Amino acid sequence: MSASKYLVAIFGGAVSGSEAAFQLAERGIPSVVFDQNALPYGKIEDGLPKWHVRLRDKEQQRINEKLSHPLVTYVPQTKLGEDIQFEDLNKMGFSAVLLAIGAWKDRPLGIEGIDTYIGKGLVYQNPFIYWFNHMHEPGFDKETYQIEDGVGIIGGGLASLDVAKVLMFELVQKALQERGHDIDLFALDRSIAKVLDEKGLTLEDLGITGCTLFYRRRIKDMPLSPGDPTTPEEIAKAEAVREKILNNYRSKYLFNVAANHVPVDKIVEGDRLVGLIFQETEVTNGKVRSIAGSEKEIRFPYVISSIGSLPDIISGIQSCGSTYEIDDEIFCRLSGYPNVFALGNAVTGRGNIKESLDHGREIAQNLIEGYLANTEGDPNPAVLARISQALEKLESEIREHQISPATFQSIMTQVKAIQDKVGYDNDYISWVLKHLPERLENQLGSSH
Ligand SMILES: Cc1cc2nc3c(=O)[nH]c(=O)nc-3n(C[C@H](O)[C@H](O)[C@H](O)COP(=O)(O)OP(=O)(O)OC[C@H]3O[C@@H](n4cnc5c(N)ncnc54)[C@H](O)[C@@H]3O)c2cc1C
Repeated sequence: MSASKYLVAIFGGAVSGSEAAFQLAERGIPSVVFDQNALPYGKIEDGLPKWHVRLRDKEQQRINEKLSHPLVTYVPQTKLGEDIQFEDLNKMGFSAVLLAIGAWKDRPLGIEGIDTYIGKGLVYQNPFIYWFNHMHEPGFDKETYQIEDGVGIIGGGLASLDVAKVLMFELVQKALQERGHDIDLFALDRSIAKVLDEKGLTLEDLGITGCTLFYRRRIKDMPLSPGDPTTPEEIAKAEAVREKILNNYRSKYLFNVAANHVPVDKIVEGDRLVGLIFQETEVTNGKVRSIAGSEKEIRFPYVISSIGSLPDIISGIQSCGSTYEIDDEIFCRLSGYPNVFALGNAVTGRGNIKESLDHGREIAQNLIEGYLANTEGDPNPAVLARISQALEKLESEIREHQISPATFQSIMTQVKAIQDKVGYDNDYISWVLKHLPERLENQLGSSH
């Protein structure tokens, strides 16, 4: 690549990082995209559950196209904070640094001392879904989970419904297998109820009671639909949509829901978490209030907490507790760093598109919404226009941080040394093909 007056470092090559790299490249600005993993797909590979074959493949293809742009240099297996220190980036001389590192740390459940029981009765969503997505791969050697009946899930958003689906799929699949019926995941994803109906069976016949999702508000408050209703009519409509979505999930996947329940304490026996103490709640004018005297003990084989994710705070970067401190809402510029910006889930700490919109962080919200919310169609032109507008502004910032040809060459020499160290020869597509894990649908010999 010939020297340019600008060179941007992007950490994280997934939805938000690859889109930023592409938008910059389209404006003639080269970038180096570092990802901690071999593959740059982030939550599309490790979060989005593996039954979303078409959506996963489509989004990965989009990422591939963007990262194959001639002005984008990819560097795999290079983690900011470990393989490269944040302080060293400034010394390298990049025009700007974009953090598109997602949100991989589970939001703590918030009961004092409960994290002592991780792996001993307490499970968090991100490693659980990671296991589910990869467990079928030959040689899988990361943390594994036993599926049991009667697990409690704490949550209420779309990801917690995915956790409930995983538990129900695994339970029903195993019970059917024991009765001589081999049913694959994709059939169960269409509808567990339908599969059972066709076999003339019920959950009860299989001896399954199912998992239970505990949500602290009402079902109609669940953050299951996009949009920002404000008028009474809009709010009533959104509430009806949320109830419909949840009822649809429940009738297909047969899990239990306990709304208006908030966990307030743990029940421990020996060295294990064996249950939680819940309080019932009521919601008035949008505020949740616990009802005094409504405490009850509920026991579970284990509990899965699915209450959201937070970005990793990279050592050396100022933060406000569990998220990055942003001093400029348009560029998502990090407080105290004139040329460091955050994108995607790393800003909001959430995978929830709607809440990102509320925070008004143009770049992050638009990148995610434009390419994931609209899962079946092309990105919404209005959203794309907003992304372009935000990047116009970012571009003018970057153009104020010109670098010399010597600095450009020096950075690219250092980048090449890192690529050599991890064995990446700059052939993006062949690297991806070499590292793509074995897909469940190929093992089953079916197309989905
Ligand atoms: C269970 C589940 C289901 C979901 N379903 C949907 C859905 O149906 N529709 C929808 O719109 N969204 C869904 N989402 C959310 C969606 O997947 C995410 O919002 C989106 O993919 C986030 O993109 P991102 O680029 O911001 O972050 P990520 O995908 O998290 O990408 C971050 C990238 O940064 C890399 N990285 C992290 N730290 C470092 C570091 N220190 N140095 C270098 N690289 C680093 C990671 O390896 C990763 O590749 C779901 C999420 C989950 C968990």
